[in-house]
Amino acid sequence: SSEPTGAPLSAANISIEKTVAPKKKLSPSKLVFGHTFTDHMVQIPWNATDGWLTPKILPYQNLSLDPACCVFHYAFECFEGMKAYKDSNGNIRLFRPDKNMARMNKTAARICLPTFDHDAFIKIIAELAKLDSDWIPSERGYSLYIRPTLIGTQASLGVGPPQSALLYVIMSPVGPYYPTGFKAVKLEATDYAIRAWPKGVGDRKLGANYAPAILPQQMAASRGFQQNLWLFGDEGYITEVGTMNMFLVFKQPDGKFELVTAPLDGTILEGVTRDSILALARERFDKDKWVISERKATIKEVADHASAGTLVEAFGAGTAAVVSPIKEISWRGQPIPIPLQPGKETGPVAEQMAKWIAEIQYGEVEHPWSVLL
Ligand code: PMP
Repeated sequence: SSEPTGAPLSAANISIEKTVAPKKKLSPSKLVFGHTFTDHMVQIPWNATDGWLTPKILPYQNLSLDPACCVFHYAFECFEGMKAYKDSNGNIRLFRPDKNMARMNKTAARICLPTFDHDAFIKIIAELAKLDSDWIPSERGYSLYIRPTLIGTQASLGVGPPQSALLYVIMSPVGPYYPTGFKAVKLEATDYAIRAWPKGVGDRKLGANYAPAILPQQMAASRGFQQNLWLFGDEGYITEVGTMNMFLVFKQPDGKFELVTAPLDGTILEGVTRDSILALARERFDKDKWVISERKATIKEVADHASAGTLVEAFGAGTAAVVSPIKEISWRGQPIPIPLQPGKETGPVAEQMAKWIAEIQYGEVEHPWSVLL
C-alpha cells in the first residue's frame, strides 16, 4: 500500500536554516515564468521504515541524488502548481490549497509514492512562503508560483514501489500572464496524438504526462497554433487545451446559454480553476438564462454551432493564466472562428471569471477559498 507506514507528516518540528547569501531580485517586469526561484526551499525525506522525517527549510540548492534513483528511470515523480498572492494589507494568501493537496495525494498514491496529511503540508508551505514573502511583488497580477514536488529516491534499478522518497517545494515569483490585456489564442484540434485515455493516468499530475505533449505542441506551433486542443476517440471528444481545462459556451434553441466543460471521467486533470469556474457560474449566473454542464462535447458539435451562429465563446482555464480566451480552432485544416467581444481579445464569461477569481485571490472580496497565512 502507498499509505506511509512510519511517522505521519508533521509541521511541528520543522527546522529552518536561513540563507547567508540572499539572491538579488529581478525587477518584477523582467520576470519570466518559472525562471527565477526564491532564497529557500522545503525538503522532507520519507522512507518506508520511518515514515516522514523532519521537514527542513533550507537555502535553495541543488539536490544530490544517486544516478540509480528510480525517479530518473521509471518516472516516479509528481507535482503540484499553486500560487500565493499578496493582498493590499501585505498579507499572504493561498487559493484553495486543500484542492492541490488532495490532488497531489491522489497522484502520489497512483504511483506508489507516500501520501501525507494535507494540513501539515499546507502549514509547511506557509512557513516557506512567509520566510520568502519579500519575493512576492505586491502589484496586482503578480504572485508566487509554488511547486510542490515528490520524487522516488530509491537507488535501485529494480522496478517496484519506492522505499524512499523526497517531498520538496520550490517557489518562483511570476508576473501577470497578460501584462497588456488578454491575448486570444488559436488552437489546433489534435487527433494525431492522444494526451490521455480511459483508465489511464491523465487525471493525475504526473511529470510523465507532460514530456510527451511537447512534440505535438511543436507540431501545432509550426503551423501557427499556440496550443493543442486534445481530442479523444473516433467521436472527437474535447478533453483539454494544452495544460488547461476547456470551456465552451453554446446558445441553445430555447435561447438559454450553456457553459460546457468535459466531465471528470479520468481523461482530464481535475483543475482547481475548472472547479472554481463551475462553482461561481452555478452560484452567480442567472439561472433562467444559463445551464452549466459537465458533459462530453465533440469537435463536430463545436463546428456545427459555429456554422449555425450559436458558438458564443471558448476559453481555457488553469492556475497560470486563470483564463485563456480562444479565437480560433483549426480542425482538419479548416478554421472554426470563435467570437470575441468587440475591441477585446476575450469573451464575456472568461473576462467575468478572471475578475471574480482575481478578486478572491487578492483578498479584495472575502471568500472561504482564499486562505490567509
Ligand atoms: N490540465 C492540465 C493537464 C494541467 O496541467 C493543468 C494545470 N495544473 C490544468 C488542467 C489546470 O489545473 P489548475 O486549474 O488546477 O491549474
